[in-house]
Amino acid sequence: MELTGLNALVREYVDLSYHGMRAGKNPIKVELLFDLDDRIGEIELIGEDFSRAVINLCNNAFDAMREKVLKTQDTKHKKQDEDADIVQYNPKLQVSTILEKDQVRIYFKDNGTGIPEEIKDKVLQPFFTTKKGTEGTGLGLSITNDIVKAHGGELTIDNKADEGATFIISLPKS
Ligand code: ADP
Ligand code: MG
Repeated sequence: MELTGLNALVREYVDLSYHGMRAGKNPIKVELLFDLDDRIGEIELIGEDFSRAVINLCNNAFDAMREKVLKTQDTKHKKQDEDADIVQYNPKLQVSTILEKDQVRIYFKDNGTGIPEEIKDKVLQPFFTTKKGTEGTGLGLSITNDIVKAHGGELTIDNKADEGATFIISLPKS
């Protein structure tokens, strides 16, 4: 464990994940919004592990938003003769940190596909994935959960089916 500026770490690895996605296969444009609480300052982190957790959550968010982009394009295509609703979708990832009493919380809120209710209880399990072929190992969230626990914290999910998913890391401040 070492004292690490949490906000700077979060910002750095969200950006890194975004640039990785943009340079990879099927890039999409995502609006990244940061709302970082500067009362947080430095906290005890296993730096390399913790940055992995941030990357994993961002990668999942980008995947879910890419899937929604593809779905939206599909709907647009089907509707093109009807000139019905023009389907608009702007992918957005909101990352915020907040100090609440003796807890630090980090929110990763995306407006992607959301998690279907029937699989919500399974996503933290190792090897559980809904991604095809070699796209997903199903290990990202279970590793992230282990990393957060190793810091004495907790990973929770606030899922709004259709509106997207929010993953929340809660950590003890000291
Ligand atoms: P992988 O990304 O390799 O599939 P993860 O453990 O990272 O494995 O995630 C497991 C599953 O949880 C994903 O396949 C996906 O179905 C679901 N999931 C994770 N994050 C999100 C998210 N932000 N929005 C929607 N579904 C998600
Ligand atoms: Mg993943």
